[in-house]
Amino acid sequence: MNLRMIILGRQGAGKGTQCVRLSERYGIPHISTGDMLRSAVEAGTELGRMAKSIMDAGDLVPDEVMNGIVAERLGESDAVEGFLLDGFPRSDIQAVWLNEALAPGGIDLVLSLEVPDEVVIERMLARGRADDTEAAIRRRLDLYEAETAPLMGYYSDLGKLVRANGHGEEDEVEKRLSELIDTYLAS
Ligand code: ADP
Repeated sequence: MNLRMIILGRQGAGKGTQCVRLSERYGIPHISTGDMLRSAVEAGTELGRMAKSIMDAGDLVPDEVMNGIVAERLGESDAVEGFLLDGFPRSDIQAVWLNEALAPGGIDLVLSLEVPDEVVIERMLARGRADDTEAAIRRRLDLYEAETAPLMGYYSDLGKLVRANGHGEEDEVEKRLSELIDTYLAS
C-alpha cells in the first residue's frame, strides 16, 4: 500500500494534531517541515541559525533550502511506502519540485483541512509558540493566501485534492479525515 499524502490548511487549522493521529493510524511518518526547522533552531545548527530570524518574522525559508531538507527526509527508509507531509509544499516552486522528485507516481492524496477565519487566530494565539506573535501570525496568514492557497488549484487540476471540514472536536475531525482516506484506499 502506497500512501503518500500532503495536508494543506491554514495555520491554526489543526494540521499538527490531526497529523499525529493519522500518522499513527496509517503507520506512516508525519513529516513536518516546521518541526524540522524548530529542531534545527534548538540544536543551533547552521540551518537553524539561518532559519530563526525568517521564522520569527513569519516569512518563508528559501525554496532551495526547503527542497533540500525534504529530499533528504523523503530518502529515509521509513518514507518509502508513504508519508504525511505537513507544511510542505508551501509555494508553487516547492510543489512542482515535489512532483518531479516523486515521479512517476507522484502524490496520492492531498487533504485540505478547512476552518473558518475567526477560529484560526483564536487557536493560534492560544497555543503561544515562540513565533506566534500577532504580527508573525498575520504575516503567515497573508503568505498562506498568496503562496499556499493557490496550490489547491494545482492539486485539484491533478485530481488529487480532497477537502475536509476541520471545524469541531479532534475525534470528529479525525473520523472525517480517515473516512476520506479510506475511501481513497478502497478506490
Ligand atoms: P504554521 O503551521 O504555523 O505556519 P509551521 O510549523 O508549518 O507553522 O512552520 C513554521 C515556520 O517555518 C514558517 O512560518 C516558515 O518560516 C518556516 N517553514 C516551514 N515550512 C516551510 C516551507 N515549506 N517553506 C518555507 N518556509 C517554511
